[in-house]
Amino acid sequence: MTTTATTTDRPRAILAELAEVRVRFSPSPTGSLHIGGAKSAMYNVLFAHGQAPREGKRGTFILRIEDTDQKRLVEGAAEELMAALRWLGLEWDEGPDVGGPCAPYIQSQRTALYREHAERLVETGHAYHCFCTPERLAQVREEQQARKQPPGYDRHCRDLPAAEVGARLATGATSVVRFKMPVTGETRFVDLLRGEIVYQNDKIEDLVLLKTDGFPTYHLANVVDDHLMRITHIFRAAEWIPTAPLHVQMYAAFGWEPPQFAHLPLILAPTGGKLSKRHGSTAVEEFRAQGYLPEALRNYLALLGWSLDDHTEVFSLDDLLAHFTIERVSPSPSTFDRPKLDWMNQYYINHILTVDDLTGRVIPFLNRAGLIADGAADASHPAFAQVRAATALLKDRLTRLDEAPELMSYFLRDEVEPYDAALLVPKKTEPAVALSALEAVTRVLPNLDISDEAAVETRLRALAGELGVKAGQLFMPIRVAITGRTQSPGLFETMRVIGQARCEARLGQAVALLREHVAVA
Ligand code: GLU
Repeated sequence: MTTTATTTDRPRAILAELAEVRVRFSPSPTGSLHIGGAKSAMYNVLFAHGQAPREGKRGTFILRIEDTDQKRLVEGAAEELMAALRWLGLEWDEGPDVGGPCAPYIQSQRTALYREHAERLVETGHAYHCFCTPERLAQVREEQQARKQPPGYDRHCRDLPAAEVGARLATGATSVVRFKMPVTGETRFVDLLRGEIVYQNDKIEDLVLLKTDGFPTYHLANVVDDHLMRITHIFRAAEWIPTAPLHVQMYAAFGWEPPQFAHLPLILAPTGGKLSKRHGSTAVEEFRAQGYLPEALRNYLALLGWSLDDHTEVFSLDDLLAHFTIERVSPSPSTFDRPKLDWMNQYYINHILTVDDLTGRVIPFLNRAGLIADGAADASHPAFAQVRAATALLKDRLTRLDEAPELMSYFLRDEVEPYDAALLVPKKTEPAVALSALEAVTRVLPNLDISDEAAVETRLRALAGELGVKAGQLFMPIRVAITGRTQSPGLFETMRVIGQARCEARLGQAVALLREHVAVA
């Protein structure tokens, strides 16, 4: 299809004279919520609920489930889509579960309406019954291919005499209803991000509106519902631009005013092309399972196409609502940048969430990993305080919540994971020296109050002096003994959070392990 877009004088969304703003997100329940869909949903919400454009007059955000393609339906997908939207904090004012003045909001419950409207277009001469069999259509396609012509319906039934149509319908012949696209001239419409877009009508085929099973196609249901639900602005992905001229013609055929269109830029993969499953996670549910925070994912998605200025990056939902304007949405595609999303997630974990809030979010991940019992999410549960203390120490190392079990296990299990005894021996240190140092620690530790970090530090530094080793030569084996690792947060705070009894037990085990190691060596 040919399109010419003038991008020089970008139109402004006509807002002032509108009595109200009504927008919709209308996913098909054919799978999980793709982040591109989540972005469209969010821009709808920001436009409707944002206060910037309309002097405090809140618009309406509608969720509509477009489930008329029965072959592509996935069981439970609508519920999953709704859960993912709610997880992202995107709430609708009207929709399947909350109801509203235009209910029902599930298209499969509105099929009579679509049939009536298809019939209306047939009666007014804007649509027609087509009796072509799938075999004939396949043959037409083959011939077109052989002639190197673009594929498309050859309008075989477009001008059948009314009497013949009536007779065939009376005998029960199966038919679809096709839209009678004008064959000359052009269709123009304004895209709020791109300016005027022009399509040559002869490039657009007579698409099916009503299928043989009596279900509408996307085009019919979408246009009828956008009108009946009084949608004022359509924010949807740029991949829908080629369907817009057909829709504009359908509005004209019905005698309706079309909504305003804004086709949102696509999200591209880092390697180019539309972001899809083969580039890794694309579904909101997957990001959730990996421990991305809804705040961070939302913030990240908002910036894939919109910006306030050239430097502000962190926006709460309230900030976005306050600042979002369609004028600052770019029509150019943006590239999905996982390291940037990771940065954003870590920023929220480390700087925006309170430790209590973060603890509550980490707990389900620890729970699934079997590290803590059910019920620990309750702040009064004994495990909560322990997780909270570990979270406070580790939050600057946590990029995603799903890293928490691995990062935190030694704070939560009785024992550390098995480690190599050689790790207990610092560089340039004799194993026997490391052993006597650790033995000395096991002797002083019971006399120390491990919750007093400063006192523990002073005593252990003094001990290093008494043993004639550097502080590091003493601290490193202690760290390995109590964590099973060579890296951890600060030693004394780590000891405090692990606790007296577990530290003493682990040091005892480390001494035994190192004795064996020394004996073998
Ligand atoms: N049901 C379509 C989809 O799945 C909606 C497209 C539109 O917003 O018009 O994306």
